[in-house]
Amino acid sequence: MYTTCAFCNGKLDGDGGPSGLGVGRRLAFDEWKGRLWVICPKCSRWNLAPLEERWEKVEALGRAAREGRVAAATAQVALIRWRAYDLVQVGKPPRLEFATWRYGERLKARRREQMKFVLPLTVAALGVAVAVNVAAGGSFGVFVWNMPTFARSIYTGMVGRRRIELVEPPVCERCGTVLLLRARQVARARLTATQQADLALLLTCPTCGSEAAMLTGPDAAAALRRGLTYLNLARGGRQRAADAARLVEAAGGPDRLIRTVARSELTLRSLAPDRRLALEMAVDEQAEVAALERQWKDAEEIADIADGLLSSDAELERHLRRLKEDTDQPDG
Ligand SMILES: [Zn+2]
Ligand SMILES: [Zn+2]
Repeated sequence: MYTTCAFCNGKLDGDGGPSGLGVGRRLAFDEWKGRLWVICPKCSRWNLAPLEERWEKVEALGRAAREGRVAAATAQVALIRWRAYDLVQVGKPPRLEFATWRYGERLKARRREQMKFVLPLTVAALGVAVAVNVAAGGSFGVFVWNMPTFARSIYTGMVGRRRIELVEPPVCERCGTVLLLRARQVARARLTATQQADLALLLTCPTCGSEAAMLTGPDAAAALRRGLTYLNLARGGRQRAADAARLVEAAGGPDRLIRTVARSELTLRSLAPDRRLALEMAVDEQAEVAALERQWKDAEEIADIADGLLSSDAELERHLRRLKEDTDQPDG
């Protein structure tokens, strides 16, 4: 029985619950391999549970996970909320209904955020309009009627002006303009495929109009997410979570969808609305669980060593060296 993190010595929170360990609020488990980790709330490292009592606890977690709600998932990892717990289920593919559910939640959250702005502004403007109406004795009915649309367009403009923070602002290769990116400028960018990067975004220069610079990795993901959020607000069209989920699924998952869009060579603003929403969901989802998946792979390697699955000393030696290198360079 352990109550503190093996890496940082921090206290592992928890009240027993489904783990039966007496520790852990964030628990990762693999039903097929019978593995269980307690994720430290302080340093996020994965603590492998002792082998002896693992199986029944993993079974209990599996039952809890089926009652819980999937917050995000990759092909290998699903983050599930269950009561006060975060359950990280690894090694099992997600289902389409999960995808539909979480895309729907995201759309609802976006509408709620939008209404927080649109509603007060509309109410305030209505008050002004009524006062003006009374004072002027005339009819401003048309103005009042259009108010929600007007407020919504102010909100959309605000989202479009949001700055995209990059490690280093790109410079146009042709005219030398420094591109201080705002969300709405990403509308003219397009995805492209490169050998090295999973995600590459070609930016158009606002000064000379040529394709100016290429963003890759986290920069590309950040710009793409901001740009797509703006575009999907500004040119939403029909937006249904189920359609987006189906498009991602039909493409063969988020990675494939992103590659297909890259091959089409279309700018983001010329994509069909439902496809653009699907792309946003795919990019978002990838970013959210990619970190979790990286952590799992490291934890899995340690578990292999701890459970004695590696066959030779030489193999064990190699893994330990690699893990040490990873720890020495956390960003590399
Ligand atoms: Zn820790
Ligand atoms: Zn330029």
